[in-house]
Amino acid sequence: MDCIFCKIAKKEIPSGKVYEDDLIYAFNDINPQAPVHVLIIPKMHIISANEINDSNKDIIAHIFKVIPQLAKELGVAESGYRVVTNCGEDGGQSVSHLHFHLLGKRNLSWPPG
Ligand code: 5GP
Ligand code: ZN
Repeated sequence: MDCIFCKIAKKEIPSGKVYEDDLIYAFNDINPQAPVHVLIIPKMHIISANEINDSNKDIIAHIFKVIPQLAKELGVAESGYRVVTNCGEDGGQSVSHLHFHLLGKRNLSWPPG
């Protein structure tokens, strides 16, 4: 399968690793939209939020358990941050492997564009 994020998780493509365990991998976005811009992905290939179901929901819960730990390490737990997943065309998803953006260290506008 020709998935860039699967290759990153398998270290076939280099990335700025921020965190890793058996289930998930986190790395710096190549085109950061904020001083802190980390992508958190399941190692398992899941296409998008549309594919979250009973068989993989524990991985998603695990991602959200790790996020506060990452936020602390990245120095944004107190200042605040945003976690977002883009799904499909209107959502602006450009890589078809589920990922959560963790953005911080700048004032993020709301609503988004
Ligand atoms: P999406 O637009 O799908 O929500 O987010 C995809 C993100 O992946 C973008 O922010 C983009 O900059 C990032 N990205 C795409 N290719 C690579 C890559 O090869 N390495 C890294 N580190 N980030 C990537
Ligand atoms: Zn993949």
